Amino acid sequence: MSNEDDYDVVVIGAGFAGMYAAYRARQDGLTVHGFEAASDVGGTWYWNRYPGARCDVESVDYSFSFDDALQQEWTWSERFATQPEILGYLRHAAGRFGLYDLYSFDERVTAARYDDTTGTWTVTTASGRSVRARFVVLATGSLSVPNRPAIPGADEFAGEVYFTAEWPHEPVSLDGKRVGVIGTGSSGIQTVPEVAKRAAELTVFQRTANYSIPAVSEPLPPEEFAEVKATYAERRVRTRRGLYGSPARDPHPRHPLEISPEERNRVLEQRWTYGGVFFARSFPDQMVDADTNRVASEFVHEKIRQIVRDPRTADDLIPDDHPIGAKRICTDSGYYAVFNQEHVRLVNLRRDPIERIEPAGILTATGLTELDVLIYATGFDAFTGAVTRMDIRGVDGAALSDTWADGPVTFLGLVVPGFPNLFLLNGPGSSGPLSNMVLCAEQQIDWVYQVVAATRERAATAVDVRVDDAEKWTDLVDETAQATLFTRARSWYTGSNIEGKKERFMPYAGGMGAYVDHLGAEADAGFPTLVFESSSRQNV
Ligand code: FAD
Ligand code: NAP
Repeated sequence: MSNEDDYDVVVIGAGFAGMYAAYRARQDGLTVHGFEAASDVGGTWYWNRYPGARCDVESVDYSFSFDDALQQEWTWSERFATQPEILGYLRHAAGRFGLYDLYSFDERVTAARYDDTTGTWTVTTASGRSVRARFVVLATGSLSVPNRPAIPGADEFAGEVYFTAEWPHEPVSLDGKRVGVIGTGSSGIQTVPEVAKRAAELTVFQRTANYSIPAVSEPLPPEEFAEVKATYAERRVRTRRGLYGSPARDPHPRHPLEISPEERNRVLEQRWTYGGVFFARSFPDQMVDADTNRVASEFVHEKIRQIVRDPRTADDLIPDDHPIGAKRICTDSGYYAVFNQEHVRLVNLRRDPIERIEPAGILTATGLTELDVLIYATGFDAFTGAVTRMDIRGVDGAALSDTWADGPVTFLGLVVPGFPNLFLLNGPGSSGPLSNMVLCAEQQIDWVYQVVAATRERAATAVDVRVDDAEKWTDLVDETAQATLFTRARSWYTGSNIEGKKERFMPYAGGMGAYVDHLGAEADAGFPTLVFESSSRQNV
């Protein structure tokens, strides 16, 4: 092994989660080293630089809460900050907390192997570097591996090709070009209005229509921001207790069918005008009760009909195969209205499927759309993609990708049986992906370092979980989802967006408050579910 170093903790990934994980390790007096495949911190916000990228949880909530000085000194310019601003914030935080010194950038981890006799991991990177650590934190992101659909002829396209999830760092000129966008999830829907501003012709290839709500990202009035700052601590507590990781917008107190149609409309109009993903909880039980959900869905259907002038295009844009919110609601800045522009066209792939990609463009059943630029907004191999792309070997050399062949099994979304001293962040079985991943990861990381401290206090060298306890949590995740409408959509939540991937509803749908309660209960009871073991070797 070349360049072998020993650390207490190795963190993989320098997005929101990895940055806090590395910071906390150092705060706790542990030696820590981080690896990041990118050239800088930022994670999602480093890679997803496509025009129009911004967050969908308000920035005052979608930001680190662990350091009050940071949240007091930083001023967000808009309710939903754009990608450059979020990346700027993360760079600022990395500089402020000295995190750059803790990381090796441009270093992709390819393998991690556990040694049962010493209770340590050997982590190897693509450049051949190896380090050893007692604990490994996988902060590799649940939306960090782009999905590259195998469309026949894709490699033969003669024009420029971009993925929203790997947008170039150099400026991309779309001016006067014929542009095609494949995909109408959050990324596609955010980028389409921006692309339309530049392109001579824009064709949007939609396989499944999606719900989108205006982002309504306006500058934050200074007095509103001052109020947030004055009450930040209390706001953060409410955010952690909230269902979706935001303190804002409690649902209307009454069932929509118990109130008059005028009142229903008024509530929904207000939520539409306010904008953002919280439209998914306009009424109580909206993600549980199909009738309630239908009221909200139909309101959006009507909005689409009002906005889009061509009735056939409007019909194509109206989702008909899933309840609103069962996929994460998209947020946009003028998405539906863009289809009123002469140079923008929607191709409904359900009616007019892609046959192949040709050098000149995309051939669908009805003919060739000639393109200069093709943008893939085709999503991610979510939750498991980044983890199973590494060769992770636990006890007895078992491969994590084999252990998860039938779908991921975790305890609390954090620990995998047979992979001691290894922690996942924002992964399968956690609530982050359905809420606010920054605050969820912070809660997880605080829990991880409590476990690390408990391991050391017990003079143990390894901490693991029994298979049946992880299965119990995974069953609970499944039962919780089955009691909601979330399972009624094909999406990255279930893995059904990736061909051949085993389908299982992966995030915990009980809400961030309930999830944090589960973490707290385990910690307060002294981690009764975890198994602390000693091996022959002392601490590294
Ligand atoms: P990431 O930010 O994905 O960071 C993971 C890092 O790990 C990456 O930098 C990656 O390069 C690195 N990595 C992966 N594998 C390896 C390896 N083998 N070796 C070395 N490095 C590796 N969530 C919300 O809650 N609210 C939002 O508004 C929101 N908006 C989003 C907008 C976009 C465009 C996208 C794509 C996602 C959005 N999300 C949002 C989800 C977002 O992914 C999370 O909020 C959050 O940024 C995740 O942070 P993370 O640190 O867990 O992972
Ligand atoms: P996504 O929601 O999975 O959407 C991918 C899109 O690509 C879908 O429309 C999908 O169609 C389409 N697609 C995939 N393969 C295709 C193929 N072979 N042919 C045609 N179409 C194909 O991915 P995403 O838009 O990147 O969003 C993922 C998640 O990231 C979001 O849910 C959200 O959590 C986060 N995100 C948030 C924001 C934000 O607003 N802050 C922005 C971007 C991303 P089907 O639906 O038919 O599969």
